[in-house]
Amino acid sequence: MVTLAIDIGGSGARALATDDPDAPGTEARELRWDRARVDDEPGQVVELARSVLGGRVPDAVAVAFPGSLDAAGVVRRWPNRPWWTGVALTARLDFGVPPLVDDDAYLAALAELAARPEARPDGLFYLGLGTGVGGAWAQPGGGLVRCEPGHLIVRPDGEPCSCGRRGCLQAHLRTADAAWALALAVANLAEICAFRRLVVGGGTSGPALLRDVAELLPRVARPGTDLPRPEPARHGAGSSLRGALLAARLRAPSCDERTPT
Ligand SMILES: [Zn+2]
Repeated sequence: MVTLAIDIGGSGARALATDDPDAPGTEARELRWDRARVDDEPGQVVELARSVLGGRVPDAVAVAFPGSLDAAGVVRRWPNRPWWTGVALTARLDFGVPPLVDDDAYLAALAELAARPEARPDGLFYLGLGTGVGGAWAQPGGGLVRCEPGHLIVRPDGEPCSCGRRGCLQAHLRTADAAWALALAVANLAEICAFRRLVVGGGTSGPALLRDVAELLPRVARPGTDLPRPEPARHGAGSSLRGALLAARLRAPSCDERTPT
């Protein structure tokens, strides 16, 4: 069974096509957006996907995407790349089977939760730091819930955000106050969501930031709060792609269903 996974992000895209995701040598290919072809970034993704497929027809396709689609699979909103609005994404990425397109942070959280089966009873919050900040929460023993932690306001009248307001977490991650902003957001999330595991991934995460957040958290949280220590994503910047691969394989028809009788 050939599975195609694609991760579309603010700096470019990654793609992986494989018969066996655990096989050695199964590596993703990556592109950085070609600024000379900004009007055809979806076309760049199509070329990348075709290059990893190498002429094969996939049995299942899943796409990690940070924007939102309408019911017809057309991009309705992607604040960080508004020129994608109106792109018929599911049609463009149909290589013989309709693709599953889902939130990139949700898919990353899916992969990180799957990598930590022991974390399920503890609850887990995943934060994906990139051009924006996505996330998903698994309550103790429960399934994953999508959320938008990037737009938690950490400083009224702070930095302007792509959502039109000021002081959102994701706007402050580009500043020298990034660790403070993240610690405040996590402390606030811990007040309303039950989780003992905090996984931080995405392209702009790093050990120094996680260390600073771990140090700041006790200073900004309510005294006595049982705070999680931030831990890095096991799949690094590849969590969304790994989650897309998982989602595609879960969605694929079984061998029995595909074999004519
Ligand atoms: Zn915002």
